[in-house]
Amino acid sequence: RTARGPNGLNPGGDGPSDAKNLKVKLVLLGDSGVGKSCIVLRFVRGQFDPTSKVTVGASFLSQTIALQDSTTVKFEIWDTAGQERYAALAPLYYRGAAVAVIVYDLTSPESFTKAQYWVKELQKHGSPDIVMALVGNKADLLDRREIPAEEGIEYAEKNGMFYIETSAKTADNINQLFEEIAKRLPRPDTSQ
Ligand code: GDP
Repeated sequence: RTARGPNGLNPGGDGPSDAKNLKVKLVLLGDSGVGKSCIVLRFVRGQFDPTSKVTVGASFLSQTIALQDSTTVKFEIWDTAGQERYAALAPLYYRGAAVAVIVYDLTSPESFTKAQYWVKELQKHGSPDIVMALVGNKADLLDRREIPAEEGIEYAEKNGMFYIETSAKTADNINQLFEEIAKRLPRPDTSQ
């Protein structure tokens, strides 16, 4: 049995290897300014702090959630920290990622276009069974919305992703985003 299973799943992580405790690499993608760092900080620290960036370079934050079936999922969350501008970084960044969260800003059509670019990149270079989430963020800005929910849903369905609208500012749907991802993760085969 290899240490790293299909789809970058690494059963057990630092602890004992078992199907009940998954450790997964999650990459965030999306235009600069859509709220990637704020989503992570909301999820990991329970705060909305628009001024604090999640460090620089290839570091990550991690957060473990428990599911109802008493399994746990530890997310190692990679934020591009602005490096999404350098296309050369991308394949390295995706490598071993079991999950990709592609974020756009519901008030920015350009960011929705950019999200679609990242989806194509992942379809080309990502793991074939990667779990992908399409996230329309800044749902709190009701009167500034430019992309109707239907557009996000339709695009997500066509591309085998799930769609969710979040607000890092109000915390709306942030935990749900990660719970939905956890439910969709393939479980490593421990029958042998
Ligand atoms: P990143 O470049 O994708 O990491 O974006 P940031 O997380 O740095 O957020 C960019 C800006 O968007 C910041 O000024 C945040 O205050 C703002 N922002 C992020 N999420 C939300 C949200 O859910 N609602 C609102 N109204 N603003 C947000």
